[in-house]
Amino acid sequence: MTSKLTSLDRFAARKLEGLERRNLRRKLAQTQTLDAVAVERDGERLINFCSNDYLGLSHHPEVIEASRQAVLEHGAGSGASRLVTGGHPLLFELEQRLAAFKGTEDCIIFGSGYLANLAITPALLGSTDLVLIDEYAHACLHSGAQLSRARVEMFRHNDMADLAARLAAARGDARNAMILTDGVFSMDGDIAPLPTLIELADQYDSWLLVDDAHGIGTVAGGRGAANAFTTAATAPLQMGTLSKALGSYGGYLAASHQVCELLRTRARPLVFTTAPPPAAIAAALKALDLVEQQPDLCERPLELARRFCAAAGLPDPASPIVPVILGDETRALEASERLRQAGLLVAAIRPPTVPKGTARLRVTFSAAHSETDVDRLAKAVQDIRLQYEAAQ
Ligand SMILES: *Cc1c(COP(=O)(O)O)cnc(C)c1O
Repeated sequence: MTSKLTSLDRFAARKLEGLERRNLRRKLAQTQTLDAVAVERDGERLINFCSNDYLGLSHHPEVIEASRQAVLEHGAGSGASRLVTGGHPLLFELEQRLAAFKGTEDCIIFGSGYLANLAITPALLGSTDLVLIDEYAHACLHSGAQLSRARVEMFRHNDMADLAARLAAARGDARNAMILTDGVFSMDGDIAPLPTLIELADQYDSWLLVDDAHGIGTVAGGRGAANAFTTAATAPLQMGTLSKALGSYGGYLAASHQVCELLRTRARPLVFTTAPPPAAIAAALKALDLVEQQPDLCERPLELARRFCAAAGLPDPASPIVPVILGDETRALEASERLRQAGLLVAAIRPPTVPKGTARLRVTFSAAHSETDVDRLAKAVQDIRLQYEAAQ
């Protein structure tokens, strides 16, 4: 069959060529999960060191069973938006449980963490308002900020002096203001200075939104970044995901009752999208039980990250996310390929996900990894780093 290239196809082909040339094209590989850490790709068995399933709960027998029961009892899909069909009781139950876990009055579940962040800022701010956002905050926080039509300013990563200066300069011109940050940063694994952020937010009457997608289940015995400090640093807007340590799929915002009620009416990614399927919610509920009952399990990913960093000559990590920064895209891709040949799956992370010149391996640790596999990875990463340093 001869296919005629339309202007649309030519446009796409040209874009792709450009990305390919700069080593920025991304490809989807078919990958079968075998268990909580082993995957199969192109007939090869690899140990996965780039999943966010930090506790291996996506494969936990009790989580699977809860999800299976929910499918059998309630069906595969949820049918419509909660505002149309009413919400499934499991959703209300999980919202109450998450609110209690986060120490807030209320909570709302969204279809994903990404949707939660597209919902929150635009529901609260408009064109006369101001957003201050950490430059390394997750892409969906940036997208939510843009969608709100507020004035958006980025502050330097975790730089409280820069944030304070920007607040002093710009807060007065805005009606309302929000400060947006990750709790645990998704590509660097460091933790935001939440006590100072809370002080600055109070001082400048700005509403702090903390995205702790990577904190629940992994930091402070599983309780999240807010509890990584001597006194709990609880933001009024605490967003997170069911898709990472909780091993399921979905997102949430824990906040006051008034704020949650406003979002139930105003948040477009809640009103105009279908509610998450019952099986995903039942799985997250069971996973939350396990997180609450097993703080030791939640400490394990960070313990393994520490073991890895000590052996690979990297600084002590704050979370189970460890960046191995290699600089340019080609190096990161080569390093990822070398690890794959050794049976280790670690994705190369390139711009625009991370700033230019900081292409990296992003290594994540799961409670389900064995110490032997961690040590093998440390040795391989150490070799790669030494080789690059020798070539400098
Ligand atoms: C993964 C991630 C999200 C998105 O959550 P999903 O449930 O995967 O859509 C949001 N924020 C941060 C910081 C993340 O790492």
